[in-house]
Amino acid sequence: MVVVMQEGATEAQTEAVIRRLVEMGFTVHRSTGVRHTVLGGVGPMDDFDPVALEVMDGVKEAHRIVSPYKLASRHFRPGGTTVRIGNVEIGGHKLVAMAGPCSVETEEQIEASAEIVASAGAQVIRGGAFKPRSSPYSFQGLGEKGLRILRAAASRNGLLVVSEVMDQVQIPLLTEYADILQVGARNMQNFNLLRELGNLRKPILLKRGIAATIEELLLSAEYILSGGNYQVILCERGIRTFETSTRNTMDIAAIPVLRRLTHLPVIADPSHGTGKRDYVVPMARAAVAAGADGLLVEVHPDPDHAFSDGAQTLSPDQFTDMMEQVRAIAAAVGRAA
Ligand code: PEP
Ligand code: MN
Repeated sequence: MVVVMQEGATEAQTEAVIRRLVEMGFTVHRSTGVRHTVLGGVGPMDDFDPVALEVMDGVKEAHRIVSPYKLASRHFRPGGTTVRIGNVEIGGHKLVAMAGPCSVETEEQIEASAEIVASAGAQVIRGGAFKPRSSPYSFQGLGEKGLRILRAAASRNGLLVVSEVMDQVQIPLLTEYADILQVGARNMQNFNLLRELGNLRKPILLKRGIAATIEELLLSAEYILSGGNYQVILCERGIRTFETSTRNTMDIAAIPVLRRLTHLPVIADPSHGTGKRDYVVPMARAAVAAGADGLLVEVHPDPDHAFSDGAQTLSPDQFTDMMEQVRAIAAAVGRAA
């Protein structure tokens, strides 16, 4: 159930509606927009007639949300969500670039990466300290040491940090060192992890699962939102199809679809989306043209010697070039970069 309050509705009127929703068995999530307060009621009463709420003082409109996800639905926040971290806004007018190596390997590698990322104009450094690898024999990440390296390099270069959390037990470490916690594709439906992240008040970057539908992605976001953590950023990173020319099939169409269905910011990861560095820049351009709020890209000072995902990792020059091209596309679609 979504109840949109009138512009200028009083606090007492809003509280009366909240009380009524609670009486009816709904859990109420409140979103205060520029003009309207929107109340999202999540509960068992799907057959309730919204007119009973619509007649209450101060109510502009009330309607049932038919989609299985409620708080992730665009109806809940028609104006969109902006995730703010310091002076960086994700989901605002300006695009956000998150870039760095697949894995944190050494202090020198991360320092060099941070310099490349910052000087090309990106705002966030990425790098996995806990790596979900298909093989248990592949490099698994440096753990806390990696997070410490990442944080130090980010602070020296005025960057924010995004890094992956693979398990609930890693949450305290990630919250200590990272500004944004990434949930990887393989964990998109790790519901226990999502619920725990819902209890945080920290931005979460939720990547689309390898074989997940858009609806499943939004339901996973709903797990986090329903815990009261509304700072969720979605990421299209390619899905597995019958095509073998690319590592995954970058679903560019998911970007406008998500923008219609949800208020949450949407970024694109053309690195995992294609698996080959030659295709990363064209897909980055396409994602921005399609309306993405930002990009997550793998870049390494020496990509051919990267511990993981080297084939899809840009060189510093390729990354700088990508940022320039993306700025031109952003301007063409009415955004800044
Ligand atoms: C990553 O960002 O390095 C990563 C493992 O991504 P994904 O979960 O999308 O495969
Ligand atoms: Mn990777």
